[in-house]
Amino acid sequence: MSNEKCNKCGAEIPMDSKFCLNCGAKVVKETRTVSEPIHQIFHTVFSKNMIIAAILLGLLFIWIGVLVMTFSTDTTGYRVAMVLNSFGFFLTGTVLIGGGIVNDTIEKYVRLGMVVVGVYMITFVLSLPGILSSIRNFIP
Ligand SMILES: [Zn+2]
Repeated sequence: MSNEKCNKCGAEIPMDSKFCLNCGAKVVKETRTVSEPIHQIFHTVFSKNMIIAAILLGLLFIWIGVLVMTFSTDTTGYRVAMVLNSFGFFLTGTVLIGGGIVNDTIEKYVRLGMVVVGVYMITFVLSLPGILSSIRNFIP
């Protein structure tokens, strides 16, 4: 491991030194916890670009699902459409929640909105089997 750098002036500090030899600032040892790399991964996964990409992908799945449902004439078509829709909603919802929690660069109320919409979408997906069975009752 190389020498550490002073937080104040950037000068190199020998490993065992408690103070910076250049400016005299106290050396604050970085306490690296195990959770930090995981935190970093979350920040990468839920970066703004990834969120936008995942939401677009999710909306694409929902859109295809709606198309399949529009043109399907039997229950198999409806089932495929439901799977596509569920995946789209689940993906978008998850990314919204994750992005809302992790992205501290986004405005507070926008993040709160993202989490709320995400939770709503996942709740919707979880209630789909019930909706599906009630739809099936109306299909002769
Ligand atoms: Zn210094």
